[in-house]
Amino acid sequence: MNTQNAKKKYATVLSIAGSDSIGGAGIQADIKTCTAMGAYAMTAITAITAQNTMGVRSYEAVSNDMLQGQLNAVIEDIRPDAVKIGMLPTIDAVKIVAKFLEANKIENVVLDPVCVATSGDALTAESVPASMIKYLFSLATVVTPNLCEAQLLSGVQITDRLSFEEAANRIINEHGAGAVLMKGGHSLSSAPNKAEDILFIRKSKAHHMYASQYFSTENTHGTGCTLSSAIAVGLAKGKSLVDAVADAKEYISQAIQVGAEYWCGHGHGALCHNFTMLK
Ligand code: PLP
Repeated sequence: MNTQNAKKKYATVLSIAGSDSIGGAGIQADIKTCTAMGAYAMTAITAITAQNTMGVRSYEAVSNDMLQGQLNAVIEDIRPDAVKIGMLPTIDAVKIVAKFLEANKIENVVLDPVCVATSGDALTAESVPASMIKYLFSLATVVTPNLCEAQLLSGVQITDRLSFEEAANRIINEHGAGAVLMKGGHSLSSAPNKAEDILFIRKSKAHHMYASQYFSTENTHGTGCTLSSAIAVGLAKGKSLVDAVADAKEYISQAIQVGAEYWCGHGHGALCHNFTMLK
C-alpha cells in the first residue's frame, strides 16, 4: 500500500471516450498524448469501434453498467485532475457522464463533441448532440468542435468569420459552455498556409487566436482527440486554459508535422504522438 503523502503526484487525466482499433484516435490517441506530454492517463471506454485508417466498420456501445462501473472504479481510487470527453454513443452515456461530473465536482472538463470520424462515418446516434448540449455543455471548461460540429451544435451555417463568431457565441451564451475552442482549420483563414483556431471564453469575454503552420497531409486521423486530450493535460498540470491550449497546439502541430513523414495505413493515417521519442 503506497503512503500517499510521501510520494510525488502525477498530473492525472481521465479520458472518457471510444476505443479505436487502428490506434490513432479515441482512447488510444488520448493515452499516447497524455503519456507523451507527461501526464498519467486513465480511461472509461464508452464504445468499441472496429476501424482502420480507411473508415469505421462498426461500433458497439458498452453497457450503461460497464460505463458506470469504470467511472466508479477510477474515482474511488484516483481523482482525475482533468477529464477529457470524446465519443459518447448514446443519450444514456451522456447522462451517466454528466452525473459523474456533477457528483464529483470535476472542474477541468474538456469536451470534444465527437459526431463524425475523419473518414465521414457517424460515431454517435443522431439524437446525442442535443443531449450533449442539454446535459454536458454547462459542465465543460471548454468545448472543442471542428467546423462541422460547430455548425451542428450552434445551428449557424458557418461561411465566414462573422458566422464563425456567431456560432461560438451561441455555444457559450445559449448552451452554457465555459469556453469554446473553434477549430477553423485552414478553410476560413486569410493566410492559406496557417491553421487558425480561436478560443472564446465566456467569463473574460476575450478571444485568443492560435495560428500555426498548416501541413497538407493525409495523416489527420485523431487530430480532434489528440488536441482535446493535450488541452486536458495542460489543465491537469494547473495551467490556465489559454496556456493549456497554446501548449496543446504546439504539441499537435509537431505531431502532425512529423506524422506527415511516415506511412501509416491506406487511408487517413495517424499523427506521430511520440515524436520526441523517435530517433
Ligand atoms: N473517437 C473515436 C473512438 C474515433 O474512432 C474517432 C475517429 O475515428 C474519433 C473519436 C474522432 O476522431 P478525430 O479526432 O479525427 O475527430
